[in-house]
Amino acid sequence: MYVLDDVMRKYELPPLPYAYDALEPHIDARTMEIHHTKHHQTYTDKLNAALEKCSSEIQEKDILEILANLDQIPADQKGAINFNGGGFDNHRIFWNNMKSKGGGEPGGSIEDAIAKSFGSFSEFKEKFSSVTALIQGSGWGWLVYNPSAKKVEYKSMPNQTSPRTEGLIPLLGCDVWEHAYYLKYQNKRPDYISAWWNVVNWSDIESRFGKVKQ
Ligand code: MN
Repeated sequence: MYVLDDVMRKYELPPLPYAYDALEPHIDARTMEIHHTKHHQTYTDKLNAALEKCSSEIQEKDILEILANLDQIPADQKGAINFNGGGFDNHRIFWNNMKSKGGGEPGGSIEDAIAKSFGSFSEFKEKFSSVTALIQGSGWGWLVYNPSAKKVEYKSMPNQTSPRTEGLIPLLGCDVWEHAYYLKYQNKRPDYISAWWNVVNWSDIESRFGKVKQ
């Protein structure tokens, strides 16, 4: 994910874990290719550029630690790191949150946790879809783990701000920036979200949950 050279860590665009057309027909290949090679690449490059302007003490920290402690970043780079560091991390989660022929019900301990917090999987799905569809402008809908409350929660975040900036652990994210769906769905964000459920990779979410639950 990054190389440690003699100056600083440089983050690299992680490869997609599948082909650009793997999520067809729900998410089209052209959208995936532009999203990965242009948008995610740009967040990665701009994160590196912002970190170059920070002290070596900050450069040596992992991006997860940086996002969880943004108050330690100098004011002149804080906005850039919030945006581009969030964009870098959000997208590498997002790609792995999806797979060809995904969807269905979660099963496993994540389904139990979802039922405990939301009543049932279908109630969770309804809430996630409806609130995420109404995010104003650009942002993300997230299923997160809240370590303080020891439970999973829904959280919408603006722009590229990571849930980690609020002490929450991202498990499942739905990118509702127009670049994530506009070529195929134009203004119909709810249709994109509805299709997106068909590619959700629940084993990835279960695996992320297994690493953080207490
Ligand atoms: Mn995006």
